[in-house]
Amino acid sequence: FGLIADLIRIHAQQRPHSPALQDGKSALTYVELDALMDRVAVALQRDGLRAGDAVAICATPSVPYAAVFLGALRAGVAVAPLAPGSTPASLVRMMEDADARWLFTDASAAEVVGSARPGGIPRIALDGSQAGRALDDWLAPAGSRPDPVELQPASPFNIIYSSGTTGEPKGIVQGHGMRWSHVKRGAGYGYGPDTVTLLSTPLYSNTTLVVFFPTIAFGGCVILMPKFDAAGYLALAQRHHVTHTMLVPVQYQRLMAHAAFDAHDLSSFRFKFSTSAPFNAALKADVLARWPGGLIEFYGMTEGGGTCILEAHLHPTKLHTVGRPAEGSDIRLIDEAGQEVAAGEDGEVVGSSAGMMVGYHRQPEKTREAEWFSPEGKRFIRTGDIGRFDDEGFLTLFDRKKDMVISGGFNIYPSDLEAALRAHAAVADVAVVGVPSEQWGETPVAFVVRRAGDTTDADTLLQWANAQLGKTQRLAALRLIDDLPRSAIGKVLKRELRDLHARG
Ligand code: ATP
Ligand code: MG
Repeated sequence: FGLIADLIRIHAQQRPHSPALQDGKSALTYVELDALMDRVAVALQRDGLRAGDAVAICATPSVPYAAVFLGALRAGVAVAPLAPGSTPASLVRMMEDADARWLFTDASAAEVVGSARPGGIPRIALDGSQAGRALDDWLAPAGSRPDPVELQPASPFNIIYSSGTTGEPKGIVQGHGMRWSHVKRGAGYGYGPDTVTLLSTPLYSNTTLVVFFPTIAFGGCVILMPKFDAAGYLALAQRHHVTHTMLVPVQYQRLMAHAAFDAHDLSSFRFKFSTSAPFNAALKADVLARWPGGLIEFYGMTEGGGTCILEAHLHPTKLHTVGRPAEGSDIRLIDEAGQEVAAGEDGEVVGSSAGMMVGYHRQPEKTREAEWFSPEGKRFIRTGDIGRFDDEGFLTLFDRKKDMVISGGFNIYPSDLEAALRAHAAVADVAVVGVPSEQWGETPVAFVVRRAGDTTDADTLLQWANAQLGKTQRLAALRLIDDLPRSAIGKVLKRELRDLHARG
């Protein structure tokens, strides 16, 4: 166990002028980052914050955002990074839940912060806007050093709110030890001082942070792209000789579909990562064929509780899986009664590892619901995902339990139906959800995005799909849609599709 803030000090001494952070508007070398972190940490201590207290950041990714995050860690102050896309009510709830003492924000969040009017919590503007007091004015004078702090592996590092894919976001307290486990894992992925990591996903998501912190801990450079678009991403990747990146599946999809993809020189890439949502096998194969470097998929949850890793470039026949449990991760499958299932059977994924959340913040009830104890008394976290291990130990994921369709007593996995539909040349993207049915209890309905220019009609696709599917799996309806509703991190929001269907 070590401290990321201390490693940054060492990089600042050993290679002061190496680039640490950049965002297209500003950049910091390690010696500059280290000095700025001191000024943040001293200012927080001056304001009376102590190790274990929290501050919130609600802003678009930027160099000052990242520097404040890292500076707070040096004072032992936990950070709650919040989504600027939240509703005002949800923002207030998260701020209060985290007991944030300061809110760092910017113009991009002005609207939500303005209508949320979060209590008496003072605001600091990261971007020189009117969003709050100017950062420069708040920072401690240059050259000041914070008082050292004592931190344990369980000391809070950050409070991350889960994506809220299945309900209200839950505050997940991750400790310094949990972050350190990601840094250690990074040693296997070639991170070092010559690493250039391009990140285009939000900093409030664990998806981004699992690559952000290892890059910095190993003395590499992080390029933050505030808003993703395929052309802009490819241009940045080529210009900066990017070596590492994290992208969610829908971003891979957009990049691979971009007309100029193959015209870019991406030979500098060593590892590309993905996580957070289903990544279909054909898309993985396309990435492997056309984009140099390794492709690593993580399956896990913000709560921790173990990770499965698929090193796709090493296991081209296992692209339909999310790989095998990482070292130190104990991943098992349980049935409705909470018993482990027999080998080869489906069950809810539960996981245990050294890097597990302490608990949901101030929600002991929810924490208990999420826990499962093995017969030996070991603590696991329930994922709510259904999976199956093959005989080589690779995990195939089906659906979230909440998305499974129970029709006439049969369990239907929407993922099976989606895979069947994807095989049709007209289908660019698809999501299947269960909707209420008088006859069957629930019945599956598909939402299909057609490939650009394709004119196949819904009825033709429905007939075609139902001819491929088993009798108990057949779709009740198929609707064409321009785009699937997704969260900011690229997860399909199935509850919105169910609402859309209910509205007719
Ligand atoms: P909430 O718990 O608030 O509904 P969430 O579960 O989407 O939100 P996260 O912790 O960000 O919040 O996401 C974890 C979930 O994301 C997993 O339980 C799983 O359903 C999905 N997931 C993560 N990685 C993968 C992957 N490689 N393939 C498929 N699904 C994945
Ligand atoms: Mg979850």
